Amino acid sequence: MSNLVDSFSRRIDYMRISVTDRCDLRCIYCTSSFEMQSHEDILRYEEIYRVVQAAASLGVTKIRLTGGEPLVRLYLSNLVKMLVDVPGIEEVSMTTNGTLLARYAAELKSAGLKRVNVSLDSLKPQKFLSITGGDKFNDVLTGIAEANRVGLQPVKINMVVLKGINEDQILDFARKTITDGWHVRYIEHMPFANSTSHGNGLVSTAEIMNRIINNLGELIPHKSSVGNGPARYYKLPSANGTLGFIGAVTECFCANCNRFRLTADGKLRPCLLDDDEIDIKEPLRRGATIEELAQLIQSAASLKRAQHHLSEGDIPAGRSMRQIGG
Ligand code: SAM
Repeated sequence: MSNLVDSFSRRIDYMRISVTDRCDLRCIYCTSSFEMQSHEDILRYEEIYRVVQAAASLGVTKIRLTGGEPLVRLYLSNLVKMLVDVPGIEEVSMTTNGTLLARYAAELKSAGLKRVNVSLDSLKPQKFLSITGGDKFNDVLTGIAEANRVGLQPVKINMVVLKGINEDQILDFARKTITDGWHVRYIEHMPFANSTSHGNGLVSTAEIMNRIINNLGELIPHKSSVGNGPARYYKLPSANGTLGFIGAVTECFCANCNRFRLTADGKLRPCLLDDDEIDIKEPLRRGATIEELAQLIQSAASLKRAQHHLSEGDIPAGRSMRQIGG
């Protein structure tokens, strides 16, 4: 059991690591104009490795690589290999937009990656292009197939539901759990101060579930054995795949939060939705010991707030998802 405990007695055993702020897509809800970090700003793999050693010494067991787009960082499999070998680390997984997955899935699997979540907000190539700015819909589908083929499973498909933009495809995604055995997760669109796309409003988890129930039938609660997070899982009666719901805005799950983040530029971020950060890059680069790094991680955990206040309009003003690592 993790010894990393915050001020509200929550045990932290899960760390999300952003390996880059760069991305090959420009999703309308994720992009804001900001300066790219330089190569020198970004933590080197050896530095990430040391932070993970320190986190593991406190009881962190699960790592998720994210970004930006993690697969645009060169030799990512090398990092995976390093992290799976850290004593205490039980699982390394990744969140990706899938555009480069077909190319890298096999080598990531051999390196020890357990599974992937793939972000996909539309099943229509033209809509995909208008949301992401990238003509890469088929690449993502090929990537999902390849991830399944090599056993990076379960592959979870994350759809951010955008009011007036892709909400008409909620049922199409749900049908994929029947026709293709997909594991689909609907994520409520979170507002960030530096993104304008939330101006349209929100499609809540309750609304998404109602639309599915009214059109496709009963949702049977399903206990997922795989996952570290806040999703609630269900199945449609005839489906092999599952449906997950992440009510990031309307269903505050902070009481069970088990995670913290490391940004690509070396900041420990206790909460996605709070701008508080602690710098770990400078101590790393002046040769801090694993024990000193562990102390910094413990102080970051102590900064975790009880909960976010999104529904009261308290929106993080600092960095975008792409900079923080979603
Ligand atoms: N590039 C990778 C990808 O696309 O999965 C990893 C980084 S991306 C920031 C991680 C996840 O954050 C994606 O599933 C994305 O859809 C989600 N995301 C980004 N901005 C969001 C927002 N405002 N609300 C909800 N989810 C968001």
